[in-house]
Amino acid sequence: MSDQPVVFPRNAPGGGFMALPAGPQQPGAFWAASSGEDLMVEKGAPLPEVCVKCGRTDGIERRNQNFSWFPPWIYALLLVNLLVMAVVSTVLRKQGRLWLPLCHDCARRWRKANLVQGLTIAWLIVGLITCIVFFASELPILGLLTMVSALVSPFLSGFLLHRKATLRPRTIDDRVITLQGVHPDAKAAILTASQQPRLPSPVAPPPGTIAQ
Ligand SMILES: [Zn+2]
Repeated sequence: MSDQPVVFPRNAPGGGFMALPAGPQQPGAFWAASSGEDLMVEKGAPLPEVCVKCGRTDGIERRNQNFSWFPPWIYALLLVNLLVMAVVSTVLRKQGRLWLPLCHDCARRWRKANLVQGLTIAWLIVGLITCIVFFASELPILGLLTMVSALVSPFLSGFLLHRKATLRPRTIDDRVITLQGVHPDAKAAILTASQQPRLPSPVAPPPGTIAQ
């Protein structure tokens, strides 16, 4: 995906992150671009009323979503130490917020996926403690089964449910979130909305001009 060309819209002359305008954005005008199947969008962009998961335009509600991302190589630090990984990921974590448009069905699926993901992470902690108890009680088979289910369930939930029901950041930098999983219709609508002309900034009249 990452080797596909990045298509920059007209409101980003010169292309790339360097073209991002500084300062607060005018309503209706924001920075967005296509990168393969991904959508690159400015943090806090006012997205149009199209469900980002299915492309529907009716019954839209908004989800105040804070995306969080850190470089994937940090997972390799798990081999060193969990605490080291936790500290490094906290330091290098990038965050970005979007007020996501979702239809009722997709919003419900998103909430359900988050709930299931939370339960599997809770089971990861409880299950690992339980398996230690089983091993200490000389019940190795039960301990092994509990450990495997505790370790595997967050990944199963993530791959089978959470990835399909939510949007995932591929990267986040200081100003832009690159999102995976945006519906093509929503992506097209967002790119179109981003190309709306910016409202001109109010300019003070030259000296001597009489206000009309
Ligand atoms: Zn939807």
